[in-house]
Amino acid sequence: MDYNSQHQQINLNTVMSKMKITKESNKIRIYGAGGHSQVIREVLENNGYEVTETFDDKPSGRHYASKNVTSGARENIENFPHEGHPVIIAVGINAERAEIAGFLKSEFEKAIHESAIIAPTAKIGEGTVVFAGAIIQPNTVIGKHVIINTAASIDHDNVIGDYAHVSPKAALCGHVEVGEGSHVGVGAVVIPKVKIGKWCTIGAGTVVLKDVPDYSTVVGNPGKIIKTKSPELQLNNTSMQSDVAFIGSGISSSFTILHFLDLIENNKEQRKIRINIIDKYHEFHSGIPYGSRSGFSVHLITSLKNFLPEPELGKFIKWLNNNKNWLIDELKKDGGALSLDWVTTHAKKIENNEWEDLFVPRRFFGWYINEKVNKRLEDLKIKGLVDVEYIHGEVKDIEKKDNKYTLSLDNKKTILSEKVVLAVGSMPVNRLWKNEILIEEDKLFFVNDPYNPELGEVLTKIGGFVGKTPDKKLNVLIVGANASGLEMLYKLNDVVEIESQIDKFVLLSTQGLLPDAVINEKRKKEYTPFNLQALAKEETITAKIIAEAAFKDLDYADQIALGAASTVDIISKAFGSLLGKLDAEELKKFACLYGNEIGRRQRCAGFHYSKTVDGLKEEKRFSHIAGRFNDIKKTDTGEYSLEYLDTDSGKNKIHEDPIHIIINCVGSTNLTKPNIPDLFKNMIDKGYTKPNESKIGFEVNESLEASDNLHIVGPLLAGNVFDGKAVWHVEHCGRIIWLSEVLSNKMNEYFFENNKLKKRPI
Ligand SMILES: Cc1cc2nc3c(=O)[nH]c(=O)nc-3n(C[C@H](O)[C@H](O)[C@H](O)COP(=O)(O)OP(=O)(O)OC[C@H]3O[C@@H](n4cnc5c(N)ncnc54)[C@H](O)[C@@H]3O)c2cc1C
Repeated sequence: MDYNSQHQQINLNTVMSKMKITKESNKIRIYGAGGHSQVIREVLENNGYEVTETFDDKPSGRHYASKNVTSGARENIENFPHEGHPVIIAVGINAERAEIAGFLKSEFEKAIHESAIIAPTAKIGEGTVVFAGAIIQPNTVIGKHVIINTAASIDHDNVIGDYAHVSPKAALCGHVEVGEGSHVGVGAVVIPKVKIGKWCTIGAGTVVLKDVPDYSTVVGNPGKIIKTKSPELQLNNTSMQSDVAFIGSGISSSFTILHFLDLIENNKEQRKIRINIIDKYHEFHSGIPYGSRSGFSVHLITSLKNFLPEPELGKFIKWLNNNKNWLIDELKKDGGALSLDWVTTHAKKIENNEWEDLFVPRRFFGWYINEKVNKRLEDLKIKGLVDVEYIHGEVKDIEKKDNKYTLSLDNKKTILSEKVVLAVGSMPVNRLWKNEILIEEDKLFFVNDPYNPELGEVLTKIGGFVGKTPDKKLNVLIVGANASGLEMLYKLNDVVEIESQIDKFVLLSTQGLLPDAVINEKRKKEYTPFNLQALAKEETITAKIIAEAAFKDLDYADQIALGAASTVDIISKAFGSLLGKLDAEELKKFACLYGNEIGRRQRCAGFHYSKTVDGLKEEKRFSHIAGRFNDIKKTDTGEYSLEYLDTDSGKNKIHEDPIHIIINCVGSTNLTKPNIPDLFKNMIDKGYTKPNESKIGFEVNESLEASDNLHIVGPLLAGNVFDGKAVWHVEHCGRIIWLSEVLSNKMNEYFFENNKLKKRPI
């Protein structure tokens, strides 16, 4: 602070003291009876108020010191005494405070501690509380029902939105804006002129150096966006309209949005596009594999260079270089011994920014994509080109009327949209044994979907289960030897509290083969797919002929003990070059049938995962059964045993050891099964979508439309042919990016003509 401002401050103190509330015998009521309510009561009583009544909706949230608490308005809104003495809402959760303010028809009062220093030019809205030692400098405007907590410092020309909360000792420099409902955590620092959007969470101690888009969670120094979520409050909104509604916000919708935003910006004449982004999970722009559902310490199944195509690869690597310190810190915090080993093993490469060959943690990519989409959306919002709403809820039904789709969500909300993009990822997990996601019994812990609700939560529960019998080591069965199966094996061994309590790890898969992990660079160069190459001379070939040649080449690789990791590029390139010889019908067959059959034999996984298996094999704690899961049966001891169909003998067998923990990693269900999601059932019944012969994808046209203005992007595009290219597996990031661009180009053509504005369709 320079001399002038110091001088000004001294004068202000004199003026401010005049603003302090004089003690007068006013009566007031408090809504909320928790800890926060105690502080408000203290301030009010100190200011000479008499608290006549305290209300609360949740008995469980009441502070022991709150006396004579009456039920709040929620129970019986009509009979609540809205009129009477003014009210202060003493509820710490911003969204709840906003909700209560919405339904109370009372007069509201402020509570300002006498030690708070408030500039006379500062404005403070109704229902707002300012606690001891807080400082609010000139020209700052504080909205309604805001909490300015103990010793928070808010400098000049700030704008603090309604229902915000600035926590103790947080420091906001000059010209800062905090949007409606946002929470600035304890001791956070916000540098001058930064704009924090609405309903954001700024973690304790965070140092915010740049603008924060709506609904973001920011942590660290410098502050990083770690989540984008919509508050529950939004669910109370009435039906929302949009030009485009995205159902699902994983990487398929994120890449579509990114490319579409570029196109919107490039148009000569611009028009505001209204976008709704809906997800059933409370996190946006990362999806299942790259967000919280997968945790922070699971890795890509391929090296980074095989995961992402250029130019995205280069951009991501640049971002990794700039962010690696906090990323590695977070990985170490979330992971255990194996994660630490990964960091140590690759320390040199990470230090030298040599990421291409690493199987980086998937969450790194999730942070990257989330930050990127948020920035772009914010950018275009500021330019007035888009309006965006994030909506949390599961879309259960869809109905078309008058050229608009109505989406119905599980929380009874509806969304109207001209265009709809179905970006909901792969089919849900095929459940084994019972339909529940988690089944916990005395001697059994059964997991049907390890990423539901989140891998971290599932592992914590497994930890709790093994902890119940500290003197007994348990056995784990993982069903399915795909990347997820190996991932679970890795994570169970990464968490020391679990690993130390497990005796044996059993893997059950039909082939009895593990995905391959080790690339033999020397032998790879010597391998030639002769059978596929021979077809290059043939004029007419069929999808089946290509597949048979590929299988022969794969058999040969097996014979010479060269694994899928070493042959996958070579074989894929060889059959890929033959697909151009197929006519339209044969290409479709390849997309629906043979592509996936070949793919099933080309499964790869990371070296760090296979290292875990090797370690367990050495300790004689690992077995791999080739068979199909039949059932589990309770034995006389109350433990369960596994019944399976043995692949070699074709006979039913019972595994000799009891099984205590079972993790289902068999993969996705398909569209012929009865228990597909309600949304898919409804879309099929109404004729909006038609499953194709792949059984895992829907039929679409070249605009990726299943029917007019109902587009699909991501894994559900399997079994289609676009621009002469067959797609059978839309999981790889490169393919997702390509198809997202195809879709965004079509959307651009729809909304704009020759870079010019088209009439707004709705
Ligand atoms: C665990 C896992 C690990 C993977 N690892 C790799 C890897 O290492 N390398 C690789 O190349 N590929 C990997 N993949 C495959 C690939 O990356 C994914 O298939 C890809 O992320 C698909 O993106 P998406 O946006 O289409 O789907 P998702 O990421 O599944 O996102 C779809 C979103 O839609 C939401 N949603 C679903 N239904 C509804 C509804 N009715 N209403 C509202 N929201 C809904 C979901 O909550 C989800 O957020 C992995 C896949 C999984 C599942």
